Amino acid sequence: MRNPTTTTLGYALFATRWLQAPLYFGLVAAQGVYVYKFFKELWTLIRMCVSGHATETYVMLAVLKLVDVVMIANLLIMVIVGGYETFVSRIGLQGHRDQPEWLSHVNSNVLKVKLATAIVGISSVHLLQMFVDVHHTSHHALLWGTVIHMAFIGSAAILAYMSGPMAAQSDRGHTDRGHTDRGHADRSPAGSVPAPAEQPETSKPETSSPKAPAATPALPRQPVPDADAEARIRAAGFPVRKLLEGFDPEHPRGFDREVLARLGKAEFVAARGNVVLVGPPGTGKTHLAIGLGVRACQAGHRVLFATAAEWAARLSEARAAGRLDAELAALDEHPLLIVDEVGYTPFDAAAAGLFFRLVAHRYERASLIVTSDRPLGRWDEVFGGASTAAMVDRLAHHAELVRLDGDSYRTRRATSAWAD
Ligand code: ADP
Ligand code: MG
Repeated sequence: MRNPTTTTLGYALFATRWLQAPLYFGLVAAQGVYVYKFFKELWTLIRMCVSGHATETYVMLAVLKLVDVVMIANLLIMVIVGGYETFVSRIGLQGHRDQPEWLSHVNSNVLKVKLATAIVGISSVHLLQMFVDVHHTSHHALLWGTVIHMAFIGSAAILAYMSGPMAAQSDRGHTDRGHTDRGHADRSPAGSVPAPAEQPETSKPETSSPKAPAATPALPRQPVPDADAEARIRAAGFPVRKLLEGFDPEHPRGFDREVLARLGKAEFVAARGNVVLVGPPGTGKTHLAIGLGVRACQAGHRVLFATAAEWAARLSEARAAGRLDAELAALDEHPLLIVDEVGYTPFDAAAAGLFFRLVAHRYERASLIVTSDRPLGRWDEVFGGASTAAMVDRLAHHAELVRLDGDSYRTRRATSAWAD
């Protein structure tokens, strides 16, 4: 049982991370200084060239200096964005067209390695500057420049070497916590600070629950986590992290755990099949959809998660910009799309039409996981119109239909807490 005082204390401590926020803005100011410095150097270079005073060596040195400034500025942005995202708050760049590739798998380990390699880059530029200007560089400086550069290379190599096992370790930590204390494992990216405040309702360790999911022998073993899988999981935009291992197959009435074992292998993604999860609220549809999505990521597939309303918004934005076809084609890069909560909000004819386009486009081409609170036979209540039948037909053709029945897991947990 958690002590409310210690929890509050912990949350209060955790909230102090916001003290760091101004530091990042300070670094932004420093970036401004570098921009100023860059243009000052550039202006001097141009003036020297125009006046004919610039020798070849001078130009090379000046250009190297500019490169140096840019590299330090790159280093700064990496620390600003990566550090803020890891230690203060999520920026939520998922799906942003300019999301840097490294940000999706940034954590303190990755950041350290990136910094070390950036420093190596900067020190090579410095060393190069010394060699270019060798007549004005003392032997002493040259020797030490080389030694220090080698030391940077050595420490970067050691950090990079160590970050592999450390990342695997922190991933393993996740999976284990996924078994025992799902509430905390849910949102935390590898190696970064977990965000307990964001999901207090599930913070009760499962081991203390009388109906804690028994280790499910039928579940295929979780693949060894790797950094790429972690990157895909982070890029998928899951609202919380849920694992199949944390799903209690005893809870939904008459649930066939074989289905879980089969789908957990994520073979349906390679086969371009679909999964439709249907059931009343709180029966674990979103949990299963995310759990399957995580497995797909681990099996090497790129995944994107969004609610039906979010997909409708995304597609209608694309259509308004006249690039619906391009958007659908771009989504093919993701072999699995998850559409959560079909039916919670009714669609107008335009949104329904977009949905039809999505399902038709992906038919036999790529996979969808769809969750809904009503069976496919009642989807005309959501989509109306004549095309519903055609859409359902395509969706269900190569689909595994999973029915979840029974009481809401949320209220069950609430009532058992009351009983306690
Ligand atoms: P739905 O999407 O069907 O409304 P969710 O997947 O959001 O339901 O489930 C609600 C909460 O209950 C989540 O925290 C989920 O992890 C948990 N939950 C639901 N069913 C189960 C289950 N069978 N085993 C473990 N946790 C469950
Ligand atoms: Mg849900």
